[in-house]
Formats: sequence, C-alpha cells, structure tokens
Amino acid sequence: MQLYNKLSAKERAELIDKAGKNRLTLSFYQYAKIGNPQIFRNHLFIAWNALDVLGRIYVAQEGINGQLSLPADRFNEFKQHIDSVSFLKDIRLNIAVDQNNKSFLKLKIKVRDKILADGLNDDTFDVRNKGIHVGAKQFNQLIEGENTILVDMRNHYESEIGHFKNAITPDVDTFRESLDIIEDDLKSHKEDKNLVMYCTGGIRCEKASAYFKHKGFKNVFQLEGGIIEYTRQVKEHDLENEFLGQNFVFDDRRAERISEDVIANCHQCGNPFDIHTNCANEACHLLFIQCNNCKEQMENCCSTNCMDINQLPYIKQKELRKGQGNSNDIFKKGRADYLPFKKDLRNIFEV
Ligand SMILES: [Zn+2]
Ligand SMILES: [Zn+2]
Repeated sequence: MQLYNKLSAKERAELIDKAGKNRLTLSFYQYAKIGNPQIFRNHLFIAWNALDVLGRIYVAQEGINGQLSLPADRFNEFKQHIDSVSFLKDIRLNIAVDQNNKSFLKLKIKVRDKILADGLNDDTFDVRNKGIHVGAKQFNQLIEGENTILVDMRNHYESEIGHFKNAITPDVDTFRESLDIIEDDLKSHKEDKNLVMYCTGGIRCEKASAYFKHKGFKNVFQLEGGIIEYTRQVKEHDLENEFLGQNFVFDDRRAERISEDVIANCHQCGNPFDIHTNCANEACHLLFIQCNNCKEQMENCCSTNCMDINQLPYIKQKELRKGQGNSNDIFKKGRADYLPFKKDLRNIFEV
C-alpha cells in the first residue's frame, strides 16, 4: 500500500496539466487530542491520495493543520471524508481567495510534535482560554474603535506585502519572538484596551490569544479564520475591506491579492512592488521582493555575489556549498543587510 508521495514535482505538474481540471486550494486546522498520530496520518494518506489531494499537512497529538489542493469536482467526497472523522466534522475549510492549480505538487502528511511551531510550552498556560472570535463585520467595528490595538501576529515578510490598516506589524522572524515584543510594548494597556489580533488563517491567534490572556490582557479578540475567511465574508456580505495589499501564503502561489494597493517596495531599486521571489542561487535562496526590472538585470539573484555563483557550472556550485549546511539556516528568511529597500517595520510602537 502506498503511504508516501512518489511523483516528483515535475511529473505531478504534467499530470495536472494533462487532467485539465480545476483544483481548489484550501486550508484548515483543528486542535484535538489524537492518541496515535502515526495511524491517523496513514489513514489520511490512503484516503486523500485516492482523492488526488496534494499539500502539506501536519498531524500531532495536539491536532491537525493542513494546507492542500484537490480537484474541484472531488470536493464533496473530500468533505464527506473530513466529516467522517469525529473531531473534524463541520470544521471551517478556508477556501483560498486566488486559485492556482499548482499551489501544491506533492502530498506530504507529516507527524510532528506540534501542529504549529510556536516555541511555547503549553503546560505553562491554559491553551483553552482563548480570545473571543470575531467575524469580519464585528472585526471592522472593533478596529474602528479608539480603544482598540490591532496587532498582526505574522512575521515581517508576511506583513510587509499586506496588512490591515493601522495594524501594528512586529518586525519579527518568528511567532515566538513577536509574543514577548508585543507583551512588553503593550504592558501598560492590559486592562484598558481591546487587544485585537489576526493572522493568515487563524491558527496562530488560537495560541497567541490564550497566551496574552495568561499574561493578563483582559479584552482579547481574534479574527476568526484569519485574513482568508475575512476576505470571503467581506465579499459575501459586501462589507468594507480594511485589508491592504497581498495575503502571504505558504504554498507555490506565495500570496493572494486582497486589494489593489501595493504597500511594499522592490528591495533592490525601491520601486513599488509586492511580489516575493527566492534568490536563484540555491545556496542562498533568500526570500525577498524583486521587481521585474531588477529580476532581469540581476538574473533573479539578490546580490552580484549570488549572480557570480549562479553562473558557475552546477557541479562547482555544489562544491562551494559543501559543509555549509542547509541554506535556510544560513540566511534569515527575507533579511540581508545589502538590500537597501527592505522596509523596517514598526517594532516599538506607541499607543
Ligand atoms: Zn527593482
Ligand atoms: Zn542570494
């Protein structure tokens, strides 16, 4: 029985083209006690592989967190399967705003310690004591109020290309880092302000809101289903859209456009631009914003140094990489001192 992905990304892309069918990209998560994550994982793989599901799914004893795509005409079967699992019945499936048939090219279901790498020790606070969930309409009302502090719970490279108007966007690389910064900066407002938070699909706020309540914040709210669900509700109920720019996503689409505003700049020339790319030098792979002009001039590289390396024969490049370890550890995601127009986001803020 096949329990693991076998096709390469290229083979898969060809199959998707050949099938000529529309695929749906969606995401969901659920915190629930899973006794044997490995058995559950295998069960999911067999069922979802048969439905031609592709994506990245994490299963842990604390629950499941999935981002995936599937042929649109198999959605009902997928939904039936989801509903057949007691703790997944009727969960919200966040359907992507921008669809792309190649958002995922492999089915990877992994057993992890946690479904969100949050860096928190869950035994030290009550994770069930969460903030109040609000939908798009109530969220809009809340963020208009003077008594509200709106905080973006995502990382710098996410909020740089899109965020809610007037949101605080911590200049952080990780979720864990943002918690301390926010707590410290807002410590004098634990009781007198509404702390309203949001993230991509809602999962980070599930933890963050409980953490801030544990730290003494009295009025904590979180955007239900995150930016993705907010956008859906705004369209469905014809509400005012308060989100500017693009919603960064963790698949091959990279981002979905929510409003036409371009709030970021090319990191190399400073012109307005808000689409990320990865440096073509495989040893670097830096995530950064590069306009089409710079992309052409720099051959999709982040620096002349990377251009030089990228022009070497592949075998030479490999030799150079030897002993350098994983490239993702060498470079911080989306930061390099030599990129002159990388925005400094607000880290210390006055309320
Ligand atoms: Zn440029
Ligand atoms: Zn580079």
